[in-house]
Amino acid sequence: MASSWQKISFLLRESDVNISNRGTFKSLSRIVCSCLSQMGDNTLVLQMLEKIILDQMSQNPPIDNVCAMLRMLITLDSNTMIISQRAFISLGNILPRYLIDVVRCIVEDDKKTTVSISSSSCHYYLIPCFVLFDKSHELLNLVLNTLGSWITESSLPHVTGDHTHYATDISSMVDAVVFLLQLMHMDDKICQIISLFKAEIDYIMEGIRLLESSEEISMTIEEKHKVQCALGRLQNISAFFKPSSSSSPCPNPAAAPPLLSNENDDELTVWENTQHHYCNTYKRRAPNPQSGGRDKNPVNQLPEKPFSDGNFGKPESTTLGRIVTKNKKRSYAQFYLDFGQSDFNLHTCSTCGVKYTAGDEDDEKAHRAFHKDYTNGIPFKGWCNERVVHLPSVEGGRIVLVLDSDPPAQRNKVGEVVKRMESELGNGWILHKLCKVYLFILSQRVAGCLVAEPIKEAHKVSSFAVDGSSGGTNTHEAKLSTLQFGDIRFLREVMRKAPSVPEALNENLNGAIFCDREAVAAVCGVRAIWVTPSNRRKHIATQLLDALRKSFCMGFVLERSQLAFSQPTSTGKALASNYTGGGGYFLVYKTNHIVP
Ligand SMILES: [Zn+2]
Repeated sequence: MASSWQKISFLLRESDVNISNRGTFKSLSRIVCSCLSQMGDNTLVLQMLEKIILDQMSQNPPIDNVCAMLRMLITLDSNTMIISQRAFISLGNILPRYLIDVVRCIVEDDKKTTVSISSSSCHYYLIPCFVLFDKSHELLNLVLNTLGSWITESSLPHVTGDHTHYATDISSMVDAVVFLLQLMHMDDKICQIISLFKAEIDYIMEGIRLLESSEEISMTIEEKHKVQCALGRLQNISAFFKPSSSSSPCPNPAAAPPLLSNENDDELTVWENTQHHYCNTYKRRAPNPQSGGRDKNPVNQLPEKPFSDGNFGKPESTTLGRIVTKNKKRSYAQFYLDFGQSDFNLHTCSTCGVKYTAGDEDDEKAHRAFHKDYTNGIPFKGWCNERVVHLPSVEGGRIVLVLDSDPPAQRNKVGEVVKRMESELGNGWILHKLCKVYLFILSQRVAGCLVAEPIKEAHKVSSFAVDGSSGGTNTHEAKLSTLQFGDIRFLREVMRKAPSVPEALNENLNGAIFCDREAVAAVCGVRAIWVTPSNRRKHIATQLLDALRKSFCMGFVLERSQLAFSQPTSTGKALASNYTGGGGYFLVYKTNHIVP
């Protein structure tokens, strides 16, 4: 293996001379990466190669070589952080230079040629660094500090050497650093991470200010202008690093350099599509409803300074790989890298049905919170004047009755619970003003809920349909619940987020319910009844029904058979049938009109 590595590194060195042929070089490094990933235990391979790769990179080879080697490191380090601490320290030295070289290369190419290396190359060179920054925020910190110290130190008197030459150098260096920050800023993920390093950005900005006002360093007017422009651009984007989403004025979009040219877009695409074992691609993540709030800061937070600088407006006119409409709110879509991980796309929790990005801390946190509320119930601290329905059978919990006339705090809690129920039972039909809501409280959470309403009449179920769909091939049909009054059939489709009903329970009770055409008098209708997944099979629904019978009418307790059920789901049918004494004969009623 050592000898094969010698060959690889020889090939990489040899191709120095032919950098212009980037396509070939990319294919080569792709093959190398592919080989590496097939060598076996990544940890072992990395242990052997890490030092060699880092040594090679330290020798300051051309950017294509550094890029290829970074990609190798990442290939070997794809799943967990196994790069050593020592490696990160040397990367901290290598990356600032590399990044500035990349940026300069892009800028130079933009100036020189019409067919620039443009966005795809930009992606190609920067993505490995972004991956590493994402893995290690310390590394990003290190790089930002190094960049900042370069600027600050160069603006101090004692390091001034050949003034003219140095100033030229420093002004384009400042330009490059700011351009780099702009590129980072365009990547939403890095932008989020970099917002943690406000102090480092300020440090860089302070260095540029110092340079601008420095009497010691003589710069031509052009160079001074360059520095001023860079400072303006940095001030502009640093407002984003707080982080806040915002728009910014773009007085001179025409001057934006052609960072993107569409005909070259496919360079990265080709790279992506020809990968078998690994590919580097940034993909959009679907917006996460759980964390949507943090991205929607008000627009007016940004100081809307007009700049006369011609270079200004770069970040607004184009971003890596997509066009951003000017003066519109930024959309903070998340980018992710596909290294072939099985759950690359959104991970869907099989229990609560929430989609989240595995590995994203915010996402996972939001999911954990939702998941707990979903399975155990919404937290409930208790009220000082609860209307508790006392039942001897309830152990360790209690049943609280809430009416529409109760204080807002109580009704709000009910609203929260009903919303949860609706996510399983369908939207917008559960609650109205005349409803009595029974909450089953267990371990300071709402473990179950029953919504009942006064009714006047109900129909007796005369038979269950035997043509249940459980044997059918159409699984969609199993989720349909039918209620039939004579010739009129009611269908309600229940969209389940996740399977929560034991299959056996469903089997015999699917299909239609046939009811007697004649109505019978009834007083109490069970509109909806629901128990959190982790508390099912604990007779909570039964106890809620008991509490309902006991408290619905003042002065007397209803018989089990007197309860009527709204168009039930299959589980609801099983419950109603069992509760009312088996045989499947119970009362049903229509809830198709909502009482205001
Ligand atoms: Zn979950």
